[in-house]
Amino acid sequence: MSRAGFYDKVDNALGGIRDDGLWKGERVITSPQGGTVDVDGAGEVLNFCANNYLGLADHPDIINGASDAMNRSGYGMASVRFICGTTDQHRTLESEIADYVRTDDSILFAACFDANGGLFEPLLGEGDAIVSDSLNHASIIDGMRLCKASRYRFATRDIDDLRRQLVAARSHHADNILIATDGVFSMDGYIADLAAICRVADEFDALVMVDDCHATGLIGPEGRGTPSLHGVSDRVDILTSTLGKALGGAMGGFVAARQSVVDLLRQRSRPYLFSNSLSPGLVGGARVAIKLAIEGDSRRERLNDNATRFRRLMTDAGFQLSGHGHPIIPVHLGEAEIATEMAARLLDKGVYVTAFSFPVVPRGSARIRTQMNASHHSDDIDRAVAAFIDVGRDLDVIGP
Ligand SMILES: *Cc1c(COP(=O)(O)O)cnc(C)c1O
Repeated sequence: MSRAGFYDKVDNALGGIRDDGLWKGERVITSPQGGTVDVDGAGEVLNFCANNYLGLADHPDIINGASDAMNRSGYGMASVRFICGTTDQHRTLESEIADYVRTDDSILFAACFDANGGLFEPLLGEGDAIVSDSLNHASIIDGMRLCKASRYRFATRDIDDLRRQLVAARSHHADNILIATDGVFSMDGYIADLAAICRVADEFDALVMVDDCHATGLIGPEGRGTPSLHGVSDRVDILTSTLGKALGGAMGGFVAARQSVVDLLRQRSRPYLFSNSLSPGLVGGARVAIKLAIEGDSRRERLNDNATRFRRLMTDAGFQLSGHGHPIIPVHLGEAEIATEMAARLLDKGVYVTAFSFPVVPRGSARIRTQMNASHHSDDIDRAVAAFIDVGRDLDVIGP
């Protein structure tokens, strides 16, 4: 194909995305992240689409922690970890993360996307098998693709199908078998049943890996995550998560596991070996965020109250929701155009939510994913529900 042909192909792809109503625009925010934000062109609006579950993204103690760390260690490390990019603070954060999620040690990455991308290839190879939930995050799917292990997929949260896939892996004489699951399925709002998964894992002597990005900081006692919620912290072999959601919402990811596993990742994981060390500011901020999360019972209580209230009022109003026991509450709408139109009209009414459509969710199952936040008050929830009802009636999503 000619160069001109290539650019025509790109233009056609863009046209197709627009024609299908799947275009993802980006609204511009001109305030700090919070329960309310200033959106360019829309003014101050209630924010129901951030992963800022504990409301820590603009917390002054975290900002001070970040700024103290930068004053001490500078802005950037200009190195990967093993050359000259490891400060005492990096090591301290790694052991604090490990204590928080109850493992031997942890290893930092630039993002959880990288943690998942660099996890599987050093640990598993030809002859091994990964049995993966069908709704697992894109980064797990990409990480598995970079590894030579055979892949088996089970229907999301379906323990019988998980067992069938484990039988299949065994019958193909898989050596090591690793079950991989999200702790929370972020498009649907469900928490994985890790107790059941670990029981089945025991039957097959399989390893268990959990991506807890939407749980760390908010789910389980002191926000220690879904393994703690289900009492299986000792049985889960590998936990990956992010510093970019409840824990202050900046960036950074990690793998937490047994010492030997973390040690091998430090030697072999490509996104760790070949990518820059986290900035000292991110490290200092994350250390304070973990402390606030441990002490965050009142934030988690407000978060849960908000989620319970929103779920109850929206169900009463006739909306079709999914999820359970988590502040992600998706409102199912079907066609992408309706979801996009609904989100636009809600913004006009001062409620900022985002429509999710293909390829983030399957075609024809577009939704508005709402996410509650500990900074919201009960009257914020009521205002949001009232706006949903107004717009929902106008668009015939719910009855009059
Ligand atoms: C957000 C998310 C990631 C990516 O985390 P980043 O740190 O933003 O790269 C990975 N897995 C899951 C389940 C997530 O929700």
